[in-house]
Amino acid sequence: EPNSAGGEGAVKPSRAFNVESVRSEFPTLNQTLDGGMQPVFLDSGASAQKPQLVIDKEREVEEQYYANAHRGRYSFGARVDEELDAARDRIAGFINSETSAQVAFTAGTTATLNMIAAGWGGRFLKSGDEILITEMEHHANIVPWQQLAIRTRATLRYIPLTPDGRLDMDRLDEVLTAKTKVLAVTAMSNVLGTVTPIAELAARAHDVGAIICIDAAQSVPHMATDVQSDDIDFLVFSGHKIYGPTGVGVLYGKAERLDEMDPILFGGHMIDRVYKDHSTFAAAPAKFEAGTLPIVQAIAVGTAVEWVQGLGVAAIHQHEQLLLESAYSQLSQIPGMTIYGPDVSHRGAILSFRMADVHPEDLAAILDRRGVMTRHGHHCTMPLHDLLGVSATTRASFAAYNTAADVTALVEAIEFARRTLR
Ligand code: PLP
Repeated sequence: EPNSAGGEGAVKPSRAFNVESVRSEFPTLNQTLDGGMQPVFLDSGASAQKPQLVIDKEREVEEQYYANAHRGRYSFGARVDEELDAARDRIAGFINSETSAQVAFTAGTTATLNMIAAGWGGRFLKSGDEILITEMEHHANIVPWQQLAIRTRATLRYIPLTPDGRLDMDRLDEVLTAKTKVLAVTAMSNVLGTVTPIAELAARAHDVGAIICIDAAQSVPHMATDVQSDDIDFLVFSGHKIYGPTGVGVLYGKAERLDEMDPILFGGHMIDRVYKDHSTFAAAPAKFEAGTLPIVQAIAVGTAVEWVQGLGVAAIHQHEQLLLESAYSQLSQIPGMTIYGPDVSHRGAILSFRMADVHPEDLAAILDRRGVMTRHGHHCTMPLHDLLGVSATTRASFAAYNTAADVTALVEAIEFARRTLR
């Protein structure tokens, strides 16, 4: 069973942070691109690269003891169960869950938010109730709540943003009321990088009798997560943004929340007893793990989390913030550049920007010619882009493996684009 105190902080980093050594662990980053360039990967906010250790773990399972999970009475099956349990324990410790049973493997952040909206919201919300989200949510934390509102005739409301892209906490009382049943909010914006005050929001939500659901997809790779000290009801994230595989995510819930939440997928493993005309359900986490899990990927997420803990989230955070500060100040000096969102003291290592008179897609394409990989578009945040008054931005997002040279390459490539495209 995990821990009593400290979340990620409870595990001491096993090595000092050295970015060259970190980077050397990532095969995709240690190749030479056509034209002789090194990859400058600045799209980890969409999906992170994997260290060799994680890739090796996936191979280990596939090559040495692959089997379906859950009590196969043979050596492969037993080993898979052991590895899955270890991954679950590892993740529970990482977010400081009270118990491992409160961590369920899911298909990802999107899938999990849908599960909570339908399975918890569908059970408890009714006409007249309110769901509160924010103007900077990813579509994954908007659309499931819209659907819930349509089905239950509840009302969806938004916490407004300040002009610099933070939550407008002075106006929270206007939207967080006794009618609010659930507050669903990102811990870190995937566009503005804004870090939200989770503990304060949780306390305010609980004051009015609402629960809080945290979209931690962007925050878990970059900052310590502690569901107990922040008093979080539900927290979700994806394996692939924290150096793990795609196809797998995590649902954390307080024991009472998981107990009262309905499953939305029914079938094998999630049951207690099946009769011809009805069934009773297993307790969490099995209740939320119907069917065959992405076994290999779930095990490898445990390895990815262990890798992050080996470096320490605090060290990763410190490294990334230095890159962010450098990128922010250099980009700010480029004529015609607009960076969206708050200053570096209120954001994680994500920068979304536009250059005057240059389409974000053209900019991303030119950057790519220099080996600099960024993302362009609305980043699944159309309401936020409506608010910003633009249909698209170019986004650079940083991870543990990015270097000062990557920042220089970004700045030089943007300067090059500015000269070429204007
Ligand atoms: N929430 C946020 C803040 C995200 O950045 C993302 C991914 O871009 C998601 C949710 C959706 O994650 P997934 O595509 O892994 O379900």
